Amino acid sequence: MTACYTPNPATKMMIQEKTRVNTSLCWSCSACDSECPVFIGSSCLRPQKVLRMASLGLLEELVGLPEIWYCLACKRCTQSCPNDCEPETIVGFLLKEAVRTHLYSDETLARYHEFYGRFQRVRWKAAEMCLKGEDIEPLVESNWQAWLENPVGIQNGDVSLSELSHTKEFIGEAERSATASCFNCSECTNSCPICFERNVFDPQRIFRMVNLGIEEEILRSPSIWLCISCQTCTNVCSQLVSGHVLIRGLQEMAAREGIVAPEFSDRWKKTQRLLYPLFTREIDAIFGFDEKGRIL
Ligand code: SF4
Ligand code: SF4
Ligand code: SF4
Ligand code: SF4
Repeated sequence: MTACYTPNPATKMMIQEKTRVNTSLCWSCSACDSECPVFIGSSCLRPQKVLRMASLGLLEELVGLPEIWYCLACKRCTQSCPNDCEPETIVGFLLKEAVRTHLYSDETLARYHEFYGRFQRVRWKAAEMCLKGEDIEPLVESNWQAWLENPVGIQNGDVSLSELSHTKEFIGEAERSATASCFNCSECTNSCPICFERNVFDPQRIFRMVNLGIEEEILRSPSIWLCISCQTCTNVCSQLVSGHVLIRGLQEMAAREGIVAPEFSDRWKKTQRLLYPLFTREIDAIFGFDEKGRIL
């Protein structure tokens, strides 16, 4: 039976004040759900539900929801909301509340953060297989633990800068995003929600490679497919480098140049749908959630 909740207007106001989000503006259009990669991949996280519960002031219930821990901070829900409701801001607030109120032990949170970072290794290795045209489906589950545990080993090779020749299009992508203005302050790296290991994904490293003209390596790298387009790197850059635009441009260029196969895009989308159920399952195991979301 579905639980019956009692709205709490005072708590609703408190959430609104702390997050500066007007939750009353949500008109349940579901645009956020249809853009959320975790919802698309696993049906396990609905930003609309979080917003509606916040609008009812159900703080205690929200903080105990398993799904807030699945959030990738990609901000696609916020970017797609026609009413500026910012579900991602609400989820971020709830995560901080769960930590502040010691809902889970430090050990559980440490295990969660370790797993969350290592999940990008899995995405990198899955992207690498997709780029090679390998059928990922039977491999995801069987390789899951090995991919999590083993660091990504990038063959950097010896790139001789004097021998590099980059195309006009590559220069065009760099110019469009003002990448040459980068002065390596690392602000983007420090703010990127998926940057945990430089070998796996690091926006500053990508921008540096572009500025050095290391074209082929970056266009062939699985890393460029990991970006979740949250735009945080762009928003924090004092040099006005549009990092998310550059990475999207590199993806499009790799497709245009035939560096990735035409079917890569569909294969990569399918792969996400295989990865996110395993991602949420692992988080459930760390926190001890059962299938109904209660703590075991
Ligand atoms: S920020 Fe979180 S809730 Fe919003 S779309 Fe991304 S994963 Fe989903
Ligand atoms: S997109 Fe905005 S208005 Fe639509 S359901 Fe989500 S939070 Fe509500
Ligand atoms: S924040 Fe901007 S200037 Fe700093 S490293 Fe990133 S792209 Fe370069
Ligand atoms: S848009 Fe920028 S901050 Fe966001 S995931 Fe991509 S590189 Fe990282």
